[in-house]
Amino acid sequence: MEGRGRGSTARNYATANTTPEEIDRFRSETRGEVLVPSDPRYDDTRKVWNAMIDRRPAMIVRCAGVADVLRSVALARDCDLLVSVRGGGHNIGGSAVCDDGLMIDLSGMRSVRVNPETRRAYVEPGATLGDFDHEAQAFGLAAPTGINSTTGVAGLTLGGGFGWLTRKYGLTVDDLLSAEVITADAKRVRASAEENPDLFWAIRGGGGNFGIVTLFEFRLHPVGPEVLCGLIAFPLDQAGQVLRKYRGFVETMPADLNVWAILRQAPPMPFLPGSAHGKEAVFLAVFYDGDLTKGGKAIEPVRGFGKSLGEHIGPMPFTAWQKAFDPLLAPGARNYWKSNNFIELGDRSMDTAVEYAGKLPSPQCEIFIGLLGGQAGRVAPDATAYSARDTKFVFNTHARWDKAEDDEKCIAWAREFFMKTSPDSSGSVYVNFLTEEEDRVRAAYGPNHDRLVRMKNKYDPKNLFRMNQNIRPSIRP
Ligand SMILES: Cc1cc2nc3c(=O)[nH]c(=O)nc-3n(C[C@H](O)[C@H](O)[C@H](O)COP(=O)(O)OP(=O)(O)OC[C@H]3O[C@@H](n4cnc5c(N)ncnc54)[C@H](O)[C@@H]3O)c2cc1C
Repeated sequence: MEGRGRGSTARNYATANTTPEEIDRFRSETRGEVLVPSDPRYDDTRKVWNAMIDRRPAMIVRCAGVADVLRSVALARDCDLLVSVRGGGHNIGGSAVCDDGLMIDLSGMRSVRVNPETRRAYVEPGATLGDFDHEAQAFGLAAPTGINSTTGVAGLTLGGGFGWLTRKYGLTVDDLLSAEVITADAKRVRASAEENPDLFWAIRGGGGNFGIVTLFEFRLHPVGPEVLCGLIAFPLDQAGQVLRKYRGFVETMPADLNVWAILRQAPPMPFLPGSAHGKEAVFLAVFYDGDLTKGGKAIEPVRGFGKSLGEHIGPMPFTAWQKAFDPLLAPGARNYWKSNNFIELGDRSMDTAVEYAGKLPSPQCEIFIGLLGGQAGRVAPDATAYSARDTKFVFNTHARWDKAEDDEKCIAWAREFFMKTSPDSSGSVYVNFLTEEEDRVRAAYGPNHDRLVRMKNKYDPKNLFRMNQNIRPSIRP
């Protein structure tokens, strides 16, 4: 938490550093809303996806446009306010909201404009993945993003971004063509391969460290609109064998196909027998974008991984599949996640996953194995700030529960599993899955870390943007 101005040592930044007159002037110069704790909408607005996060900013500005963002950054700079930036509010560490400072809430700026001729999308920073897919799929287009439609495009993209289409088209940042950025000195700049290319490099993985993005320009690809996808479930006592077959199969798969593994209790899904509901199982989530007949053949071997409990696989709209995991990952639960990247899935890691899936501390806890590779791995590690291009599997432990009294046991389960599997990981981690307590920023950026520090020295030497997985400047201006 050092350097973020949080916790008991945090100064009451906004009230200490701004006068009532300055706050009134700020309100009158803002097109959106400025909320303080006495406002009725304050409590709802400060909420983020993870219910473990309960921070109280001194002020929240709900920006209506770029002018409000410029004004907010200028105020924060001039009055030395702690700043947090909110896109979709999904960050697991809750970095969108700060104690005592100024929360710059972009969630009202969610327009998405698609040009089907040029296959480009222009996306505002409050848009969710669902907003993006909705607009792009009207033209049969999409960019690779994540697997949960309520996640924000902004935070996901700035950390790298991956999901079902990543093996085919790469990371979200690989389709980012330009961005409009408000820098720490309250200036609007454009970042692209031609304009400010160093900044463009840094924001493709470097998170919110370098400024506030007010517009993203993405390249789009023809996708769907129908894709072949769904779930197949096997009982936990077959999980060791299923995961070993999965490991072999992914080496042979076409890039059109993606398969992730999830170990959890079976929800009461209609395609599963009642006797399986609430029992531990391994689910394979299958996604194929391309000719559906070829897809049917490509996924066939998955059925032979074991004796399944049931499956629900078929053609469905891409936008529907992008929402398929929303009910399991709805906002409002308490969450504690741990994550590690893997280049290989060793027997020991798989067996540990099966062991910990056998002692889930709450019905919502799960172990997620996401598959990367394909196009994501064909980009050079230094081409973008996101460097972990050799990652094949992302092992995520999602501890999720409802009551504060279960905090200890759920957190302990996630930590233990993480500790046991860490020795076999690659040592790198996806920055967007880091929790607030972790200090693995160097591990997340690996060989790109020092270059990112130089970019931070250049674009934000006073570390105005530090409520994030912080890349600390090495100079003291
Ligand atoms: C349920 C769930 C599913 C997920 N699935 C995936 C997945 O499939 N693939 C994947 O890659 N990731 C996934 N993630 C991780 C996700 O990428 C991160 O949580 C990301 O931070 C979410 O972005 P956001 O805008 O919603 O978050 P916020 O909490 O709003 O923002 C997170 C941080 O991003 C920065 N930021 C946000 N907007 C801006 C901006 N406009 N300019 C500058 N900085 C900004 C700020 O530092 C902010 O604190 C998932 C997370 C959750 C909770």
